[in-house]
Amino acid sequence: MANAVALTPDHLRRDGEAFMEEISREYYLAHSGQKASAELQPVYEKYAAVLGPDALSVVLELFRVAPSGTDEHRGLRLLTDWLAETQSSRALAPLDEREIAWEGTAVVRLPDDREIEYQRVAIELANTADARERHAIEKARANVVERELAPMRRERFQRERQITERLELADGYNATFELLSGVKLDALRGECETFLRSTQAMWDDVLPDFLRTRLGMKPDEATRADALALFRAKEFDQSFPPASMESSIRRQVREKGIDPSANGRIIFDTGDREGKRSRAFCAPVRVPNEVYLVMRPHGGQTDWNTFLHELGHALHFAYMRPDLPYEFRWLGDNSITEGYAMLFDHLMQNGGWLTRYTALGTNKVRDFLRAAGFEELHFLRRYAAKLGYEIELYGRGAWNSLPDLYVDRLTAATSFRYNPADAFVDVDPRYYAARYLRAWQLQALITETLVDRFDSDWWRNPRAGPWICSALFGEGQRELAGEQAERVAGKQLGFAPLVRAIERMVG
Ligand SMILES: [Zn+2]
Repeated sequence: MANAVALTPDHLRRDGEAFMEEISREYYLAHSGQKASAELQPVYEKYAAVLGPDALSVVLELFRVAPSGTDEHRGLRLLTDWLAETQSSRALAPLDEREIAWEGTAVVRLPDDREIEYQRVAIELANTADARERHAIEKARANVVERELAPMRRERFQRERQITERLELADGYNATFELLSGVKLDALRGECETFLRSTQAMWDDVLPDFLRTRLGMKPDEATRADALALFRAKEFDQSFPPASMESSIRRQVREKGIDPSANGRIIFDTGDREGKRSRAFCAPVRVPNEVYLVMRPHGGQTDWNTFLHELGHALHFAYMRPDLPYEFRWLGDNSITEGYAMLFDHLMQNGGWLTRYTALGTNKVRDFLRAAGFEELHFLRRYAAKLGYEIELYGRGAWNSLPDLYVDRLTAATSFRYNPADAFVDVDPRYYAARYLRAWQLQALITETLVDRFDSDWWRNPRAGPWICSALFGEGQRELAGEQAERVAGKQLGFAPLVRAIERMVG
């Protein structure tokens, strides 16, 4: 089909949105276990005219001449970023389909012939009390990953980098990412290195105690599989009953002045289903009118945490102003939506919130917060190290040395021994780690602002919700995280507020 199509930005917006809706629905159906595999390629073919290199050239030319600092410039940057990404995601669609199909059916076989669904391995590791058994499961998992998944992922990243570099928008993958995302990688890497150094003593101080009391292990014995069991924190399970999770959290959202289902625009898919991904996710299929919150229950505080996180995303999508152009609803800096998701899941670090909505009780809050601070420090250190590693993955040529580098960086930051099999699996494509890190920082500043405006119990202040919906959610993802921090908090993003919060919890 060589039909000539007028590739105006408005045409691209209209067809782009239709394309995103169809792709998003495929992902939702496959990842929620309702379809064996996502059929992405037919969707790419259907919209080929607006996804190709010609469309990219059109928006790129307009982007280069648009006056900087305007919404026009901002929108064209987002459209260029989207179409540049589409050049690789379209070519990689067969690989992604293959990977999704693999994940839905792969099985890990243990030495005693027991079989575990690959999707359930993380849950199984977290729930296995015996260290030897954990390590046996981990060994079997790593074998399957090394043999089957890692080669697919490695090929995927190599090709993504190659395709992006061939667009010649900037000098190399990393410079292209910076140009189109507005995120400065070196500056963030510098902040991460400082953060890792300045929290090293605190980490060395808290880790041995938790490892000994929870798992009876020493730091030099612990692997990443043990980390999963360590953070499972079973002792608090009774305080987070599965039966009341959804109703308690919905009540809290209502008390804050927000309808938790956004007038029916959010659909909750929270039951167990075979083939459903173990990792919870939010699928915005039509924005703001049809948003799915999908999770597979594991039990305990993890469910509460992920439900809050995904609800933050879902409410963000469902409360975006419908008149915003396509690019400010569907594209943009995902640090914003991750920041709102974290704004919600960090309520699990708020003593007043825990006392009111969970069964924790005031006598256990202190212990729980100490554990939460420890976990927060671990995740931040892990992501700070991941970003440094991923900058090497996308920036340097020597792919064979990456597994060793991955193990060195991640083990040094977390003290848990990492497995080289995961060097291409434990990677968030296209610098999603950078989005998370900036979201963490943004969340801390938004929380401070909410406390200033609506008091320390802002989360049940009926005036807070409407403000959040209009000043934050309503804006979609028009701004960069740093711009929003300036507008809402009058401050710059940084790790300092996070370090202060962790010190308060673990101290
Ligand atoms: Zn998220």
